Amino acid sequence: MNAFTALFVCVLLLGLAARLALMQRHRHHVQAHRDRVPEAFADAIPLASHQRAADYTAARVGLGMRDAVAGVVLVLVLTLGGGLQFIHDAWAPLLGAGSLAHGVSLLATLGVLGWLVDLPFVLARTFGIERRFGFNRMTPRLFVTDTVRQGALAALIGLPVLALLLWLAGAMGELWWLWVWAFWLGFNLLAMIIWPTFIAPLFNTFTPLADSALKARVEALLTRCGFQSKGLFVMDGSRRSAHGNAYFTGFGAAKRIVFFDTLLAKLNADEVEAVLAHELGHFRHHHIIKRLAVLAPTSLVLLALLGWLASQPWFFTGLGTSANDMATALALFFLVLPAFTFPLAPVLSHMSRRHEFEADAYAAKQTRASDLVAALVKLYRDNASTLTPDPLYSRVFDSHPPAVLRVARLQALPH
Ligand SMILES: [Zn+2]
Repeated sequence: MNAFTALFVCVLLLGLAARLALMQRHRHHVQAHRDRVPEAFADAIPLASHQRAADYTAARVGLGMRDAVAGVVLVLVLTLGGGLQFIHDAWAPLLGAGSLAHGVSLLATLGVLGWLVDLPFVLARTFGIERRFGFNRMTPRLFVTDTVRQGALAALIGLPVLALLLWLAGAMGELWWLWVWAFWLGFNLLAMIIWPTFIAPLFNTFTPLADSALKARVEALLTRCGFQSKGLFVMDGSRRSAHGNAYFTGFGAAKRIVFFDTLLAKLNADEVEAVLAHELGHFRHHHIIKRLAVLAPTSLVLLALLGWLASQPWFFTGLGTSANDMATALALFFLVLPAFTFPLAPVLSHMSRRHEFEADAYAAKQTRASDLVAALVKLYRDNASTLTPDPLYSRVFDSHPPAVLRVARLQALPH
């Protein structure tokens, strides 16, 4: 066993232990606060809803813990267990070790394996927990259709992308990782245009807002905020789940704000306007570009690291393979990367939560803070989101600020 193997195993297991400990804390904290609705929500959220949210959280976290363990076992089996070497050797006689086709097949096999290991958890979440708490609207038939479509898309887009990546890595000399980075960045930007316009409509129907009275108000707000009015859509989220949500996505001409029909059905006109203003806040504060400005240099550093690691024999042997081609390097890198980037999770969560506060403040300025609070309360209640997350867990994992902090911040804003 070389020193790198020891480091990898330590980091992997420490990361898993940290995640499990945080999840356990979270579950305990939520259970400990199960019998009292926090003061700020006492009038709006009944105790029964609060307790249902606690049970829902506990069920999800419990499954998440098992999922995390399965993920680490898979990484260990594939690396030190010799799984990757086995897949490498299985494809070699057919396609020729080190060939482009061999590399693509190796990486695609890993993708399928990862999906298979995750499948029982996805099924348990959708048809177990979500169904038990009354959220699931997905039929087994729709689940199969979705899976087939996702698989076809993954093959159609993923295989050529993998082939191009491997080709760049082989053909561009010493600085290949710089080319891969440029390609990756371009691909991400393209995806941000293609996803909302062409991919998402394969799974859901997006329609312009129908209610004409609401539409007039919404358009006035959009104009006031400098957003094209044709960028607002209602999505039939109710096809799959009773959870309500709204989001802002894309950039340039492809940018759009999407309301789930399930959310729209629950909010009054003032609340819809406030939620829309929050999403517009993400747009006005350039949050998508800002996130990209952090992720782009981070991925450059990581790819430069990969460029170096791919030429180090100990990187391969330390992770249980004797193969040392580019596809194997890529596979190993992306298998072990999450263990080493886990400390970045709280940094990214922090940035995301800061953006949420900024979008809330923007909404409070453009509309009324009290309307956004009312909308949020409905969202927390109807989505069974816990009002009492463990503070440490929340700091590490939550993209949105805890309910109590968020509402307090909104209420403290000058009216
Ligand atoms: Zn937001």
